[in-house]
Amino acid sequence: MPTPSDPAPCNQDEQLYECLECGKRLCSAASPTACPGCGGVLQNLSRPRPE
Ligand SMILES: [Zn+2]
Repeated sequence: MPTPSDPAPCNQDEQLYECLECGKRLCSAASPTACPGCGGVLQNLSRPRPE
């Protein structure tokens, strides 16, 4: 399948981010604005919690 599966599941207080430049995915409870690998723009793939 061409669609990669998600990496290790994020903790409940973390959100999943994907780099628009290199496609790297990472979980973070903070709000990262740049990819730690290439410095590209990160897209938040997780929906905000209804809180
Ligand atoms: Zn990147």
